[in-house]
Amino acid sequence: MSKKIIAGNWKQNGTYKSSMSLAERIISSIHEDKHKHEIILFPPSLYLLSIQGLQKKKKVKLGSQNVSAYKNGAYTGEISASMLRDMKIDYCLVGHSERRHVLNETEKILSDKVSRLFENNINIIYCIGETLREYRQKKTKLVLRRQINRLIKSNQEYIKKQPKKIVIAYEPVWAIGTGLVPTLTELASIFNFIRCTIDKEDTKYSSIKVLYGGSVTPDNAASLMETSHMDGLLVGGASLISKKFIDICSTI
Ligand code: PEP
Repeated sequence: MSKKIIAGNWKQNGTYKSSMSLAERIISSIHEDKHKHEIILFPPSLYLLSIQGLQKKKKVKLGSQNVSAYKNGAYTGEISASMLRDMKIDYCLVGHSERRHVLNETEKILSDKVSRLFENNINIIYCIGETLREYRQKKTKLVLRRQINRLIKSNQEYIKKQPKKIVIAYEPVWAIGTGLVPTLTELASIFNFIRCTIDKEDTKYSSIKVLYGGSVTPDNAASLMETSHMDGLLVGGASLISKKFIDICSTI
């Protein structure tokens, strides 16, 4: 059976000291004999290499929260996918709702980022999800189908060759950081829909994993994970507290 993924997105939080101590506690909680899940941490980029240096044996994978849509060149302030590869970063987030809605990233930007990451052999967690307004208008599946189709169509050549490099994270925008979570009935229907939408495109795409993200806590993690076709969790707020994140990892 393929491993479940538990990813922690720390967003723009913490200090060097607090980030190192959080990472240390999470890493030391993982016993190699119990290496059941793939655990991925997404700290702020500035702290990535220091955290990488904490691990003698690789117990957790590391990811960048962002990447430039451009190849190396005159793009002040950006970090390129080739730099991530150079520093052996395993994953990168693309399409997080905060980047789509607060930082106004368009589908074209997201698709260029996915291309750059494939060119550099970096795994991608690609976030999709409807806004509260779309949820209320019962447009969830419409929105998800459009987002999945755009992702697949815009990078078809790469995804066909290496479908495993893509992980999709369903994160309803209204559930992020709000304490609100879709009902288990809603999740069952949505995960079934996402799985069918992906698999319909190509039989090879069955290896694309699908995660859930949005107000995951140690209290709801186990029941959320009972949803069919759910391959793991993307955790925001609760990943900033070592006990909560470790508890989430161990309840699954
Ligand atoms: C996220 O930002 O990806 C997220 C899921 O946040 P939270 O767990 O805080 O809702």
